[in-house]
Amino acid sequence: MPENYDVVVAGAGFAGLACARQAARRGLSVLVLERQSAPGARIHTTGILVHEAWTEWKVPVPLVRRINRVRVYTPAHDHIELERNGYFFMATDTARLMRHLARETRRAGVEIRFGEGYRGATPGRSPLLLQGSGVTCRFLVGADGARSGVAGSFGLDRNRHLLKGVEWEFEPVDGVADCLHCFIDPEFAPGYIGWVVPGVATTQVGLALHRDRQADLPGFVAKLDPLFGLSRNRVVEKRGGVIPFGGLLRNFYGERVMLIGDAAGMVSPLTAGGIHHAWRFGKIAGDALADHLAGGAHPGPVVRRAYPSLTLKHAARWGYDRLPVARALEAGLLTRSVFRRVAAKVFFGL
Ligand SMILES: Cc1cc2nc3c(=O)[nH]c(=O)nc-3n(C[C@H](O)[C@H](O)[C@H](O)COP(=O)(O)OP(=O)(O)OC[C@H]3O[C@@H](n4cnc5c(N)ncnc54)[C@H](O)[C@@H]3O)c2cc1C
Repeated sequence: MPENYDVVVAGAGFAGLACARQAARRGLSVLVLERQSAPGARIHTTGILVHEAWTEWKVPVPLVRRINRVRVYTPAHDHIELERNGYFFMATDTARLMRHLARETRRAGVEIRFGEGYRGATPGRSPLLLQGSGVTCRFLVGADGARSGVAGSFGLDRNRHLLKGVEWEFEPVDGVADCLHCFIDPEFAPGYIGWVVPGVATTQVGLALHRDRQADLPGFVAKLDPLFGLSRNRVVEKRGGVIPFGGLLRNFYGERVMLIGDAAGMVSPLTAGGIHHAWRFGKIAGDALADHLAGGAHPGPVVRRAYPSLTLKHAARWGYDRLPVARALEAGLLTRSVFRRVAAKVFFGL
């Protein structure tokens, strides 16, 4: 006998859990399929929450560490420091945060099956029949990350513009303070930046760069040694992933299917932050789905209308990709005040 649900969500990441929880709160029966064996089993993000995310969610205080300032470095490690009154970021213990979110989602009435991935569906059928599970649903949500299998099986668009991100977690290092350290460095991070983050119980060091370039994290760590002495500390975890930066996909939904979060390209093209978008638009999608299954409009256009156009950020991303920002900085062509204004816009939206 098939098991019937109103909604099946593929992926128990930020987007999937937010969507599932909201849909269940609106009275739908919801199943989440997650291929990882347990929540937070494999983390592929630095996990920084922007201020807006922190104010919208109720994340338990022991799972976060406040970051008040941003320091942006040139390749020669000259830097400027940015601060905005009342604005802060939160580093997270992301594995514990995922466990917390999964618990909260179950508490809202959602069934989550870990260790059971989405393997395909029969698109023409109503309700949809999920391959290999005997589960049927009225609507399928693909929240299965930047390389979405749901997108593939339904012929939806897929992310083509991707950065590669790699990160090592060190035992906590002194001297990183409450500061997000960002490095403009075309040698180690062509196309994006490197970072050092004071995490909850670790220090996180990472690089994001063009997908076709080799990431040299040991080289980057060695270059940072005079600043932080990282090489004296043990690496406790290594992680990596891809980051879509091409913006919201054109065809991110079909008749009984919709992508959200990274799967749909919902990532800021400039900061590469996607957690807040995944959560916010996951929730909006959950609401729109409940309206739709009660006879309302398709949730796809509802989510598209709610999603910001980010035109300026895409233009700035284009410029950052093609203009020699680091060289201009080193040559003094970008004055500190111009650079400060641009950087404040990127990090604080000023
Ligand atoms: C190195 C790195 C650092 C980053 N740092 C930050 C940061 O500090 N702040 C920030 O805001 N953003 C950051 N991002 C981006 C952010 O991590 C993503 O935008 C965010 O995680 C997107 O959430 P999501 O739920 O859409 O996707 P994901 O978090 O990718 O979740 C997708 C889930 O789907 C599961 N899945 C995949 N395939 C299947 C399948 N077939 N069946 C079932 N389940 C499946 C995966 O296991 C995963 O649990 C970073 C990204 C990288 C790569």
